[in-house]
Amino acid sequence: MATHKFQTEANQILHLMIHSLYSNKEIFLRELISNASDALDKLNMLHLTDDKYKTINFNPRIDLLPNKDEKTLTIIDSGIGMNEEDLMNNLGTIAKSGTKAFLESLSGDQKEDSQLIGQFGVGFYAAFMVAGKVEVTTKKAGEEKAYKWVSNGDGEFDIEETTKEGHGTEIKLFLNDDETEFTETFRLESLIKKYSNHIPFAIFMDKEETIPAKTDDEGNETEPAKTEVKNEQINKANALWSIAKSEVSDEEYKDFYQTIAHSSEEPLTWMHNKAEGAIEYTTLFYIPSKAPMDIFRVDYQSGIKLYINRVFITDDEKELMPTYLRFLRGVIDSKDLPLNVSREILQSNAVMAKIKNASVKKVLSELAKMMKKSPEKYDTFYKEFGNVLKEGLYNDFANREKILELLKFNTLNSEEQTTIEEFVKSVDEEKKEIYYITGKSSLDMLKKSPVLEKFKAKNIDVLVLNEEVDTIIFPMVTEYKEYKLVNVTDAKLEESEEEQKAKEELSKEFEGFTTEIKDMLGEEVKSVEVAPELVESAVAIKADKEDPAYMMAQMMKQMGQ
Ligand code: ADP
Ligand code: MG
Repeated sequence: MATHKFQTEANQILHLMIHSLYSNKEIFLRELISNASDALDKLNMLHLTDDKYKTINFNPRIDLLPNKDEKTLTIIDSGIGMNEEDLMNNLGTIAKSGTKAFLESLSGDQKEDSQLIGQFGVGFYAAFMVAGKVEVTTKKAGEEKAYKWVSNGDGEFDIEETTKEGHGTEIKLFLNDDETEFTETFRLESLIKKYSNHIPFAIFMDKEETIPAKTDDEGNETEPAKTEVKNEQINKANALWSIAKSEVSDEEYKDFYQTIAHSSEEPLTWMHNKAEGAIEYTTLFYIPSKAPMDIFRVDYQSGIKLYINRVFITDDEKELMPTYLRFLRGVIDSKDLPLNVSREILQSNAVMAKIKNASVKKVLSELAKMMKKSPEKYDTFYKEFGNVLKEGLYNDFANREKILELLKFNTLNSEEQTTIEEFVKSVDEEKKEIYYITGKSSLDMLKKSPVLEKFKAKNIDVLVLNEEVDTIIFPMVTEYKEYKLVNVTDAKLEESEEEQKAKEELSKEFEGFTTEIKDMLGEEVKSVEVAPELVESAVAIKADKEDPAYMMAQMMKQMGQ
């Protein structure tokens, strides 16, 4: 037996792990299962590609072996295993880049440091969060000798030769007295379902089942109740999103939606996309058929789960996709992100940013396709989520044009809704101005607004935006392609010479009348004018937008007062 010292950095991390990490200890299991899965992935690959490994007996699986009496938990895999050199290199040092920087950023304050270490990839050493002693028995595939690695996490580890039947690794955790919950099969199963349900390998565990007592017709017990132990697979082991589209049935897609969206409804549609190239990732996005109740709440529940190589990372990160696509449910999975990324790291991670950008483009183009090919489906989508989508007009400048093209507009001259692409076909090609009116009222009321009369008179069509969000968002949208978006109250329609002349004449003719009214209203109004543009209405109140009182009123309105 030989005793070795941990590399300084590894020792520092271990020390932190044991002394500073109070919360979220359960992630140790995710880390160990993820390592087992990696080991299976490695051997799987060799088995498939390397002649040396083709003949080995490879039955990929992971077993959990809790023992209440011993207070131990053993995680067994039939993966690649480790030889003596591997053990020295892998379980005594930390090869991760950024370890030094991480250690330097530590403050010595336990509370702050425990947050930092949670963000750093904790890996194998996380075992010491729950166990005072860890024993690793392992045999490398294709080699003869097996080894046992043992440590109490106190700066040293021992390695000795041992015997082991097949290849692979067994990690035995001697649990601390207050961590015996990790010998409860129920607790373990729920952790596996939470973190490792969709790793590609099956995880098995012995589960006790109570078989009720049997009785005869008179109610006499013929066989007493008993417990039976059954070895069962406790994870699904099928990462649905990683299966080729052509091999997944609609039913399977729908089932999966119900699991991840905690919904008993059918999704409206789904988009399954695999990207290969500089960055490899898979996305599976669903659009629900109904908006969740919290969609307009600040504390809405995010619906996107991030997996890194099928290991669950988070489902509580709202910035994985932009907030205006917060109706999406589904999965982003990439092999090119570091496991255990923190929120801060995720938000500044270049790989994540690329995945996000490409995914947004994909979702928008799929929506555009749906709009053209399945108009009825699109209508349902739009009715539920159109107003959420509109938020993208002010927080996703890069995609503003695409988002505008996904909107459906009511217009002054038509009963049917239209798109902006259609609408511009009728726009004056010289002025290139798209006129719109906003107001929170019924469509009919808004269409009757006196401001629109001069447009009616000239037969110019106008976008009629009557949702509350329109009144806030559209003033910020100033252009679409080469066209300007102009609020009708700012529109300067050219008047022909005749029109101007007629106006002057009318003003003269009614001068006495208008001054009389002005005198009557006094300070209530600024001026009283003749308005020949009013075709149907007798009078209209015209707001002076430069007037501070008017601007104040608008601001109050926007703030919901
Ligand atoms: P990471 O998984 O990010 O490399 P870990 O601390 O989780 O970091 O693990 C360190 C290394 O130990 C792994 O890279 C791997 O080489 C080795 N290792 C850990 N667990 C196993 C296992 N069950 N089978 C084979 N190798 C393992
Ligand atoms: Mg790991």
